[in-house]
Amino acid sequence: MVVEVCNFFGVYLLYCTNPRYHGRVYVGFTVNPERRINQHNGGKRRGGAWKTSGRGPWDMVLIIHGFPSDVAALRFEWAWQHPHSSRRLTHVTRRTSRERQFDFHLRVLAHMLQTAPWCRLPLTIRWLKQEYCRDFPAGLEPPLHMPVAFGQVRAVKTKGVKPSEVNVATPKRCSICLKKFQDGDNDIPLHCFHPGCTMAAHMTCLSRAFLAKEPLHFLPIEGQCPGCKNLVLWGDLVRHHKGCYGNLEADPTSSQEHWTNELQL
Ligand SMILES: [Zn+2]
Ligand SMILES: [Zn+2]
Repeated sequence: MVVEVCNFFGVYLLYCTNPRYHGRVYVGFTVNPERRINQHNGGKRRGGAWKTSGRGPWDMVLIIHGFPSDVAALRFEWAWQHPHSSRRLTHVTRRTSRERQFDFHLRVLAHMLQTAPWCRLPLTIRWLKQEYCRDFPAGLEPPLHMPVAFGQVRAVKTKGVKPSEVNVATPKRCSICLKKFQDGDNDIPLHCFHPGCTMAAHMTCLSRAFLAKEPLHFLPIEGQCPGCKNLVLWGDLVRHHKGCYGNLEADPTSSQEHWTNELQL
């Protein structure tokens, strides 16, 4: 079972399984993890990075996805590669001689996920290979709004269908400020994706409502839909707006089942 995700921007961790270089790791950015791992294992001529070329095979063991843009993912990649050069990560201590590269990278990642701005992003932490999967260091567990998922992921193109073409009854007014939506509005309406809910609201109106309890923040994490009253993740509303209708509210328990099923085959 492969989970399909659109608008895919991911930062991954590779683990070297070549006995000569065993235990080395590599952090990279991709919009297409399936193609990227083949490039790494195909060497430089097939588009792999020089650092991984000729040292394979590599396993792609972990990927963080859900970044709002390639720039956001590339900044995350850089900080993960260079934690001691990042002014946001000055509290992360250096790798000890006994600490394996893999453990060190997991520790850096755990700190990053608790550090602004990354701690507010709608990220998914995905273990791609079960044999590498482990708990985050105690006290450094990822924020609760970030699901930890298991199993393979595939980047897919968006369907390009507007929410207005999906909802039968499209509201003409913002549920919060009650103003009519205008064509060419800078402030795009976000639509609730819960079945039967027709709530739509300006992005700024909804984000202000979601941030009512956290006025110092700029990016909401979650809030209550003013229509159906369900708790919705901001990242899911934005993904839905961009035309991504599958895999909203990634459910770690169901993907865990997929894994178990795969192992039983
Ligand atoms: Zn409004
Ligand atoms: Zn709703």
